[in-house]
Amino acid sequence: MTITKAKVLIAGAGFSGATLARILAEAGFCCVVLDERRHSAGNCHTERDEATGIMVHRYGPHIFHTDDDRIWRFIRRFGEFMPYRHQVLTTAGGRVYSMPVNLLTINQFFGKAFTPEEAEAFVASRTLAIAEPETFEDQALSTIGPELYEAFFRDYTAKQWGRSPRELPASILKRLPVRFTYDNNYFRHSQQAMPRHGYTQVVENMLRHPGIEVRLGESYDAAAPHDGFAHVFYTGQIDRYFGYRLGRLSYRTLDFEEVRSRAVLQGTAVMNFGDLSVPWTRVTEFRYFAPWETPSGEGSISYREYVRECGPDDIPYYPVHLAKEQALLRDYVGLAEVQHGVTFLGRLGNYAYLDMDMAIARAMEVAERAIRSFRERVAMPVFVHRPQ
Ligand code: UDP
Repeated sequence: MTITKAKVLIAGAGFSGATLARILAEAGFCCVVLDERRHSAGNCHTERDEATGIMVHRYGPHIFHTDDDRIWRFIRRFGEFMPYRHQVLTTAGGRVYSMPVNLLTINQFFGKAFTPEEAEAFVASRTLAIAEPETFEDQALSTIGPELYEAFFRDYTAKQWGRSPRELPASILKRLPVRFTYDNNYFRHSQQAMPRHGYTQVVENMLRHPGIEVRLGESYDAAAPHDGFAHVFYTGQIDRYFGYRLGRLSYRTLDFEEVRSRAVLQGTAVMNFGDLSVPWTRVTEFRYFAPWETPSGEGSISYREYVRECGPDDIPYYPVHLAKEQALLRDYVGLAEVQHGVTFLGRLGNYAYLDMDMAIARAMEVAERAIRSFRERVAMPVFVHRPQ
C-alpha cells in the first residue's frame, strides 16, 4: 500500500494525537481522529470565560516550555506564542515564599541575607548524606535538608499524590530545580510561552488539514472492528483499551473550584499551598497567564485545585508510578505487545508523566516511524516508547 492511500485511525485529539495526525497527513496519509470529548486539545483545553473574557485552562494550568528547537518551530506553525515567564509562589506556615527553592526562598525562610556561596554552604550543612536517593523524601533530604523539605514539599506532595513522599520516586522531585541565585524562573527551558488564543486553537489548527477528519464526541471502541483502517494509533488509557481486564492503573485526578472575584484574587498566576491545613494544592488566577491582555469584562477568575485518587468515572491526570502500578503496567505492556495493527502513545497510552513538549516530541517520533514503516512495508511497532 502506498502512503497516499493509507487510512489510519487515531484515538484521541490531544497534543499526541494531533501532532501525529498532522505529520502523517502532510506525508500523504488519511487520518480519522476520534475524541470522546466535544473539544480537542485533551487536558490542555482552553476557552475564554464569557463574563471576564479571560482565557481559562479548563483542566488546570499548562505552560508551554521546551529546549528543543524542532518542537518550538513545529508548535509555532499552528498559533502565535506569546512570551511568558512562569513564576510560582507558595504559602507555607502563614508566609509567602518564592518557588522553586532559590536564594530568596532560603533567605526568607531562614531569616538570613546569604550570598549564593554562603547559601549553598548553609544548605549543604543541613542536608543528609544519602547515597543514591531513590524516594522523593530521600532526594529532598539529600538536596535541601529537612527544614525546607517539611515546609514546602512534604505536605504538598502528600496532598498531590495521596501517598507518603517515602513511597514516591525521586524523579518527581527532580522536576524542580534548587537555585542559589535569585532566579525564580519555574522552568529551566530556553523557550517558554503561552498561545495567544489558547491551546485549543493551536490543536484545532494542527488538525485543520485536508488529510484529517476529526470526529468529536465519538469514543473509540477497541472491541469494534476497524475495517478499512491500515493502522490504529491509540492515545487513551492503556488499561482501558483492554477493558481493564487485569485491573485499573492508578491515577490522580483533579477537581477545580471556580473562584470569581471582583478584584484580583491573589495577584499572581500560581500560588501553591504547602500546608495540610489548606485542602487545595494550588490556586491559578488565569488573567496572569496573559500579561499582554486587558480583560474585556469585570473581575477575575481563578481555580482552586484539589487532587484525589481517580475513580472509574473521573478524568485521569497524573499516573502513579509505584511498585503495584509498575507490575500491572508490565502486564498490560505484555498484553499490548502481542497485538497487531495498533500503536500506543501519549501520556495515557504510555502511562507516563509527560509535559506538553515531551508529548509532542514522542508523537513526532511515532509519526516518523510510521512513515518509514509504511514506506518500507514493515510492521509498525506497538510501542515506539516502551512504557516503564
Ligand atoms: N511539589 C511540592 N511543592 C510545591 C511544588 C511541587 O512538593 O510547592 C512537588 C509535588 O510532589 C509535585 C512535584 O513537586 O508533584 C512536581 O511539581 P510540578 O510543579 O512540576 O508539578 P505539576 O505542575 O506537573 O503538577
